[in-house]
Amino acid sequence: MSKKDMREMGMSSKAIHAGQHSDPITGAVAVPIYQSSTFAFRDADHGAALFKGAEKGYIYTRIGNPTIDALQESVATLENGAGGLATASGMAAISTVYMAFLNAGDHVVCGEALYGPSRILLETHLARFGVQSTFVDTADTDAVAAAMKPNTKIVYVETPANPTIKITDLRACAEIAHAGNARLVVDNTFMSPIFQRPLDLGADIVVHSMTKFINGHADVVAGMIVTKTIEDWKAIRPAFTTFGANMDPHQAYMVLRGIKTLNMRVHCGQENAMRLAKYLESHPKVSWVRYPGLESHPQYELGKRQMDGFGSLMSFELKGGHEAGKKLMDSVELAVLAVSLGGIETLIQHPASMTHAGMTPESREIAGITGGFVRLSVGCETYEDLEADFEQALAQL
Ligand SMILES: *Cc1c(COP(=O)(O)O)cnc(C)c1O
Repeated sequence: MSKKDMREMGMSSKAIHAGQHSDPITGAVAVPIYQSSTFAFRDADHGAALFKGAEKGYIYTRIGNPTIDALQESVATLENGAGGLATASGMAAISTVYMAFLNAGDHVVCGEALYGPSRILLETHLARFGVQSTFVDTADTDAVAAAMKPNTKIVYVETPANPTIKITDLRACAEIAHAGNARLVVDNTFMSPIFQRPLDLGADIVVHSMTKFINGHADVVAGMIVTKTIEDWKAIRPAFTTFGANMDPHQAYMVLRGIKTLNMRVHCGQENAMRLAKYLESHPKVSWVRYPGLESHPQYELGKRQMDGFGSLMSFELKGGHEAGKKLMDSVELAVLAVSLGGIETLIQHPASMTHAGMTPESREIAGITGGFVRLSVGCETYEDLEADFEQALAQL
């Protein structure tokens, strides 16, 4: 099947087949794990041609590897991008994009409710190299426009945001970024390419923590960069190969295995999430539920416009505050008390005492993370069992 034909297929066909060709030598249907750091040249001329780029082939796994190439093609096809670069983690994907495009004196505009380490990367580490950043609520596009400076090179957005579930208008942000000669970089971890394709909405680069939905089985840490243009792919590659962000072939194999069921898993998780969100919204011990699929979400219309689905992440607030939040964590039996998200299993966590415990209570309040705030990543268990688990756990509060 040619790459062009694949691009016209549905998401499930892409998830199963894009990049995953049967092995030309053995016919193996599953992409083999080429667990080799280095590749032998046929002779001196072959080695020279590979180094010159005159011939296609493999030299050394940090630079390229067939198992990793298959995964890059798979995710790039799903995201409608020109090419992918697979990284050791989601954070490696994000930092590689910054390292490729930012110089001392440059400026980044980014969301204030970012995945924690993404914020620390800019605030603490890139600041040491003379990169400035401004954090704004990117759901407010006027605030994004106002934060732009002549030296802004990247606008960085996570949508829906973690853990507030606020939605950012990607088309509007792309226009603002491009008007200022900056690139729009979108962390698409929460929606996966099944439900949101930022490159089609004007973004230049997508990054993923494939640790979450794309791999989906809570057994791998991995990341991916997808560029809209081949020029940007070529511009990132030197930083990618020299900073050493590459993944391992076995890691690539695991994600290739997980991605085949991506379309089914995210739809199953979404169906459960929708039902559970409605159940929780009507529960007397819950003050509100924030889920993009609920009409009560303040940006329900925007979400419907730019996403093909609502995903399976939600947050809700317990009327009983901090103590009720902790008690719920100790009372659920089927939902697993753990950080991370996007796995086949339902994961629950209490940001005020866990992921966001390092913030002062005041700054948590400003970010909307109250004591009774709960974050939930809904998995693919049988729905009735999930609801029964929440019923019994909420009864204990
Ligand atoms: C988990 C996560 C990351 C970081 O990914 P790792 O694979 O843990 O390095 C980045 N962004 C978002 C939105 C995440 O959820």
